[in-house]
Amino acid sequence: MANDTILAMFSGGIDSTGVLHQLFTHPDFADNPVIIHHVILQNRENRAAAELQAVEQIVKYYAQTFPDREYLYTDCVFNTMGFAPLNSTRFPFDMDVCAFIAGNICVARKDIKQVAMGRTSTDLASGGENFKQRMARAQQVFQAVHSLEQEAVPEYIFPVVEMSKEEIWQMLPDPVKESSWYCRHPRYLESGIAVTCKQCQTCKEVAEFL
Ligand SMILES: [Zn+2]
Repeated sequence: MANDTILAMFSGGIDSTGVLHQLFTHPDFADNPVIIHHVILQNRENRAAAELQAVEQIVKYYAQTFPDREYLYTDCVFNTMGFAPLNSTRFPFDMDVCAFIAGNICVARKDIKQVAMGRTSTDLASGGENFKQRMARAQQVFQAVHSLEQEAVPEYIFPVVEMSKEEIWQMLPDPVKESSWYCRHPRYLESGIAVTCKQCQTCKEVAEFL
């Protein structure tokens, strides 16, 4: 509904950038205030610095391009490096962490009625049963956080679920494309600049249409 706040969980990657683009540009969302939340995931994949830079640049782009759009940017740090350092094989799934944090933001902010997630047709096509199971578990985490609340649980919405990763990429403005971060295992040059690994699944998917 108009005027209800939408929470956008934003990683700085292509999919959630597509969501942010829709929330800022699509008439359906014009009257909904937006809370953009980035979870700074300090884990063995070592993406936090690259992602945070992408997030800051992209949010700045949309804020400057749409100065009348009502939004609030927040972030938090989820650091698992102590118990799951760089060479560990098990660590919390991003989806579960985001569901837990999204749930707690919704509990704190009763104006939020919807949580926008960057699921795409590419995820559904390539992720298979494994992806569906992970999605279902993340939903359970989100629901569990609300188990003591009186109000209706906010719903997940998927503003780019009809689109493939490539279609999202084509939709994004050039400065946003240049700022987005998609690689799961970046390397960092001595200068601190992140470079893509060209090996992970997302790097391979993106290489097909770049
Ligand atoms: Zn990569």
